[in-house]
Amino acid sequence: MTNKNQALIFEMSKEGRIGHSLPVLDVEEIPLEEMLSGEFVREEPAELPQVSELQLVRHYTALSRRNHGVDTGFYPLGSCTMKYNPKINEDVARYPGFAHLHPYQPEAQIQGALEMMYELQYSLEAITGMDQVTLQPAAGAHGEWTGLMLIRAYHEANGDTQRTKVIVPDSAHGTNPSSAVVAGFEAVTVRSNEEGLVDLDHLRELAGDDTAALMLTNPNTLGLFERQIVEMASIIHEAGGKLYYDGANSNAILGITRPGDMGFDVVHLNLHKTFTTPHGGGGPGSGPVGVKQDLVPYLPAPIVMKEGDSYRFSYDFPDTIGRVKPYYGNFGINVRAYTYIRTMGPEGLRQVSRQAVLNANYMLRKLQPHFDTPYEQHCKHEFVLSGKRQKKLGVRTLDMAKRLLDFGYHPPTIYFPLNVEECLMIEPTETESKETLDEFCDAMIQIAKEAEENPEIVQEAPHTTVVGRMDETTAARKPVLRYTPEEYASVK
Ligand SMILES: *Cc1c(COP(=O)(O)O)cnc(C)c1O
Repeated sequence: MTNKNQALIFEMSKEGRIGHSLPVLDVEEIPLEEMLSGEFVREEPAELPQVSELQLVRHYTALSRRNHGVDTGFYPLGSCTMKYNPKINEDVARYPGFAHLHPYQPEAQIQGALEMMYELQYSLEAITGMDQVTLQPAAGAHGEWTGLMLIRAYHEANGDTQRTKVIVPDSAHGTNPSSAVVAGFEAVTVRSNEEGLVDLDHLRELAGDDTAALMLTNPNTLGLFERQIVEMASIIHEAGGKLYYDGANSNAILGITRPGDMGFDVVHLNLHKTFTTPHGGGGPGSGPVGVKQDLVPYLPAPIVMKEGDSYRFSYDFPDTIGRVKPYYGNFGINVRAYTYIRTMGPEGLRQVSRQAVLNANYMLRKLQPHFDTPYEQHCKHEFVLSGKRQKKLGVRTLDMAKRLLDFGYHPPTIYFPLNVEECLMIEPTETESKETLDEFCDAMIQIAKEAEENPEIVQEAPHTTVVGRMDETTAARKPVLRYTPEEYASVK
């Protein structure tokens, strides 16, 4: 690691070197202590790196080029839909009429923004089959929590305080049981059967007058459609519970089927997954929640309503659970999703889902001879493979994921869902060309071959990246999140 570009910016620092130049001060200088009250002024100056502008630009540009992003390469991360983010979304989000608004401007001045929000709510209602959508939640997990709080408020209003349990399948995304617990429920696991679908007999056993809700992803996180959803809905509804739909990744169903029609009462969507707005690095995101009529009174206010030709915020939600976010949601993210929905149109969105499902099935069948496939049926927008066969040869799924880096790919999701041994979960998305899918499959097939003929090359991967195999245990147990020379030396 002697390459200059790889030094930390702190190590490049030279006393007195600066990256900016300001005009000479031609007014009286006011000491900092006079402007800020004393407690906010540091005793010692902050230890900031002292570098030139060019050093700074080169340093961060070099770092950015080491990163893998969806703009640089294929990113088949199952269950987290990392698809192409059309650049027109970015242009529209930067329109001054959107970007320069203040959330407290009077409604009369922001009719265009309100119209956008109204139309986005309306589009998401149409797409999910729900009666009312709120744009407030800032992420998928936040939407889950909001939806469960609505269900809780509903049961409490009916005097059903004994409904303390939320049923979650063993294949569910980890946020589902977590959100249930954060919303004050107990999460109860329902088993999957050998087809990878919810075991209906077990569901019948669990459903009762302590059931608050069933949380379900459909297609589930194995990429399989729960065919018995109508029967599942009636089991839960007859027990007095509600159905919650995790729509984080809805790109298998757009314009084809709707959670509202399957019997769900509450839905959240991840606009930062299904509706192309960028994600990663911790946000911002957007996780709107849609509900059926009987849950509308509990929604967080305000929600945009239309009156004649004008738009206004309505606070008329008598039993609201309260705000879940300041202002009106992550507005800029909502503009991006709105732009996407309008540029695609209804037929375009349907085509998205057809293509996503076709791409996933194409890859599944191409890879099937080379890996174990725990489920035989056609998949929806994603599928799982098992690395059991390779494990017998001493090559683990983690090794294969690292080896994919040498081919220039972001690895698929691994070891999730938990109910598949040595799981690899692959989602091509609808935006990739057949050539890309073929090249990725060729790399996977080559890795399967290497596992048989030359396992070390896989076990020791990656070979071509800037850093090799990380010590992930130490990184997780002893994270160094702030630079000091001592802490840095201790891990270097
Ligand atoms: C990503 C995801 C979530 C959580 O969404 P966040 O925005 O990361 O909070 C929930 N469920 C499923 C199925 C997901 O893929």
